[in-house]
Parts: sequence; structure tokens; C-alpha cells
Amino acid sequence: MPNLTITDNIQNLPIKHEVCFANNERVYDERIQAQQMKLLAKVAPFLKRFLEPDEEILLATAARAPMGVGELFFASRFSYFMKHTVLVFTNRRILQFLTRMNYVPKGSVSQIRYGDIEKYDTGSVLKLSLNIKYRNGRQERFTNIGWNTLKKVDIFMPTCVQNAPPTEFKQRHSLCPRCQAPLPKGKYVCPNCRLAFKNPGEAVRNALLFPGGGFFYTRHRVFGIQFAFSEGVLIVLAIAWIFEAFKHATEWAGVIGIAAVLLVIKLLHIYQARRYVEEYIPVAKDLTTVKLG
Ligand SMILES: [Zn+2]
Repeated sequence: MPNLTITDNIQNLPIKHEVCFANNERVYDERIQAQQMKLLAKVAPFLKRFLEPDEEILLATAARAPMGVGELFFASRFSYFMKHTVLVFTNRRILQFLTRMNYVPKGSVSQIRYGDIEKYDTGSVLKLSLNIKYRNGRQERFTNIGWNTLKKVDIFMPTCVQNAPPTEFKQRHSLCPRCQAPLPKGKYVCPNCRLAFKNPGEAVRNALLFPGGGFFYTRHRVFGIQFAFSEGVLIVLAIAWIFEAFKHATEWAGVIGIAAVLLVIKLLHIYQARRYVEEYIPVAKDLTTVKLG
């Protein structure tokens, strides 16, 4: 074991290195240390402001966050763009940072306090995932986590979860990226520091008025382009078909068919845009422009 202090001097992060840099047989592994440091370095500037006194980092892992129906719709073709997230397990909770593809945090943060977990499992060899059932009955699945990482989670999680006190939320809940206060569900302004977040009303309005609009509003451009294309093609097709229908009344059936498909896509679009809003996306685009601290 190298001579590392509990507060690592590279990022000054309180890393419990005998856990974080060890393999799933509790043996120090230089390669794992390098991987952990690399990933933690990506989230470190943001992570630091969330850590509480005496909180220690046990493990960081990339994962894919639970997905909504809108994302599953395109999941097979666009899985590369899906829900990149970094989970940081500490001795008190799991912090979830939604990230860009390069694992740099986007500004949406949530926490799972161990006391809010009723039970969990780490999937099977064939289906690698962290499945959590919360005290309010909800379940979530974090996927794309490696087998070795899940085996490490199995080492420390039981002790963490045991006797941890539940919070009033009883499930994963968002945190304000500016003041770290828990954000009450359904309120899109931080009650503590007044930081504004994207709201469901605007998400629905953008989704209804503009092809792909709900996705662009919630900064999911890849889906925005996909839905804008699908909706755009259907709208053009519907207009062309309406002109035909005025000449041949039998064509109205086709117009109704296109309208029905467009309606389904719009409903999917609205549903997913609303789900994204629940991730609490700060209105200020670049968090460096938000007064943090
Ligand atoms: Zn705040």
C-alpha cells in the first residue's frame, strides 16, 4: 500500500483509499487507483462542495441512470448518448452526478441516503446493475456498471445501509448545485438560495409548440434533433395528405393515421421532457456563471 493520506493530496478529496483503491478481494490495486483517480478528477471540483465534514469516498463509478420511456424509444440506436452518470459512494450516501459523455458533471445532482434504501441487489452476471428499492416503494436500476465494481459495492454497502436513518424523502432526491440543499419535489426554485431550475410548464409548452422543443429546452440536443426530424416529417406529410384529402375524400383516413402517429410521438416527447425537468436542470447554462459557494 503506498503512503497516501486519507485526504488525497492530488484533489484534496477525503478518499478512503483502503476501500476505494482496493479490488473486490480488498487488496490494493494500482490499476484501480489510477481508474478511480481519473474518474474522481472529472467530478472533483463539483463533488467537493457536496461533501460533508467527515464524509469519506468509498468508490466512484460511471453508470447509466434509470431511463424514461422517451429514451428507451431510441435506446437501441442512441445508447451512446444515454444518461451518463457518475455515482460516488461515500460512507453516508450515494451521490449521483449527471454528466456529459466525458463524465464532466452537467449540474444536476441527486443523493441516495443509505437510510432511504429498503433493499438493494447488484444484479447477476448476465444483467449487471445496481437495483435499489426505496423506503417509499419506488425502484430504480443503475446499469452499465462493471462486475468487479458491483462486487466491491457488495462488500461495503450492507454496513452502510444497516441502521442508517431514513430522510423525509424516502427515495433518491435532487440537491441544489449551488447551496447543496435538498430540493422539494415539484418546486423549481431552490427554497434556500433561490437558484432557478427548468420547469415542467415551459417544458410542455416547448414540446407542444416546436418539433423537438421539449428536448432542446432540457438540453438534450441529440433527442431534440431526432424528435424534430420525426415530428417535422409527419407534419409535412400530414399537410400534403390534407391537400390530397380535399380532392379525394377517401384520403382522410390517411390524414387521421398520420395525426395519430404524431399524437403518440408528441405525448412521448412531453412525457420525456417532463421527466428531464425532474432532474433539476439549472436555468443558468454554464454553472461557472452561477455564483457557487
Ligand atoms: Zn440552493
